[in-house]
Amino acid sequence: MSSEFRYSQTYFEGLDTDDPLKFARDDFHIPDDLIYFDGNSLGPMLKDIPARINEFLTQEWAEDLIASWNKHDWFASPFRLGQKLAPMIGAKDNEVVVTDIVSINLFKLIIAALRLRPERRKIVSEQGNFPTDLYVIDGAIKVLGQEHFLHAVENRSDILDAIDDETALVLLTDVHYKTGHRLDMKAITEKAHHHGAVVIWDLCHSAGVLPVKLDHIQADFAVGCGYKYLNGGPGAPAFLYIAERHHGAIDQPITGWWSHAAPFEFSDDFIGMSGIGRSLTGTQSILALRCFEIAIDHRLHFNINEIREKSIQLCDAFIGVIEQECADFDFKLITPRAAEWRGSQVAFEHDNAFPIVQALIDQGVVGDFRHPNVLRFGFNPLYNRFSDIWRAGEILSHIMRNETWRAPHFNQRRAVT
Ligand SMILES: *Cc1c(COP(=O)(O)O)cnc(C)c1O
Repeated sequence: MSSEFRYSQTYFEGLDTDDPLKFARDDFHIPDDLIYFDGNSLGPMLKDIPARINEFLTQEWAEDLIASWNKHDWFASPFRLGQKLAPMIGAKDNEVVVTDIVSINLFKLIIAALRLRPERRKIVSEQGNFPTDLYVIDGAIKVLGQEHFLHAVENRSDILDAIDDETALVLLTDVHYKTGHRLDMKAITEKAHHHGAVVIWDLCHSAGVLPVKLDHIQADFAVGCGYKYLNGGPGAPAFLYIAERHHGAIDQPITGWWSHAAPFEFSDDFIGMSGIGRSLTGTQSILALRCFEIAIDHRLHFNINEIREKSIQLCDAFIGVIEQECADFDFKLITPRAAEWRGSQVAFEHDNAFPIVQALIDQGVVGDFRHPNVLRFGFNPLYNRFSDIWRAGEILSHIMRNETWRAPHFNQRRAVT
């Protein structure tokens, strides 16, 4: 780009006109005039959902009642959704189930993984990982009571060096929830395998918005979120991946009747199902699974490489606009500039991040504040437009120039930030 290049409204409107994904936005319910850069916390609802869920309630639940477990294939939902999701993360269709929540799936996989390496005690992760990942590691260590210990590196650049012959498990999040920095999943998995360790990948900020190739990196285990970029609905079930080569050896700790080889024999003895089904526990919210399934079916119409390409452009555009329109206001970019090393979000540090985010929300630009001083904006190419980026930049620059964020009510904190 020449040095005279300046972003403008016209430029971004042109990008919207040429955008091959522009029609996807019509499939989502986006409230009028809302610029929603928070799909990485809670993805918006597909317009189809209310009618489809109403049908589910009035027919499958109300009329067909218990027959629905067979008639509408409720029982197979975790497997069916897993099969549909598998190609999005480079998995085989027998390697994924949709069940429970990320935290619980992490617990199951951490213990299963540690049991695969009974002679080792070291778990490698990173400081500043999404808290649940660290808390669940801690809880699993206490439950096992076998002197496992967590080595959480301070910087992502130290991860490779921390993996050694003592390491049983490496548990990392591909795209960092705050900075958007992305790890080299292949190099880390290779190093872990070289030392005889296994890896659990947390794909919460990757799945659905960038190509994940679990097969290519020879992954062991993975988890990911249904309610972020995959738009499965508030508290949507999560997914869990176990590479086929580990299926025979999986010993997860929350064995329930859904992990039993013959659940309807109601036997007193536990005989685990073979395959990925061994990772299930008990009865799932079929309602929540249905919402998520509608979203997965929708997502399968789109090509992930096209989504990724637009995601990169949206992030580049947002960085460019903020740096052009808000150059005087001390926003410090903490997301990598190199597209290859970031997910689909852009984050800045600013001393007044909290009230600035509140002032933005008040003007219809929804992003996240993340403790202590981070403004985070997530982009989903299926409904975010380039002209939204321009308008958000203008609104932010207006808030900064007029110091709107200083109003006392923008400084009050509520339970969810
Ligand atoms: C969102 C997120 C979670 C969420 O866990 P839940 O158990 O679904 O609440 C876990 N890990 C990461 C990295 C996340 O971003």
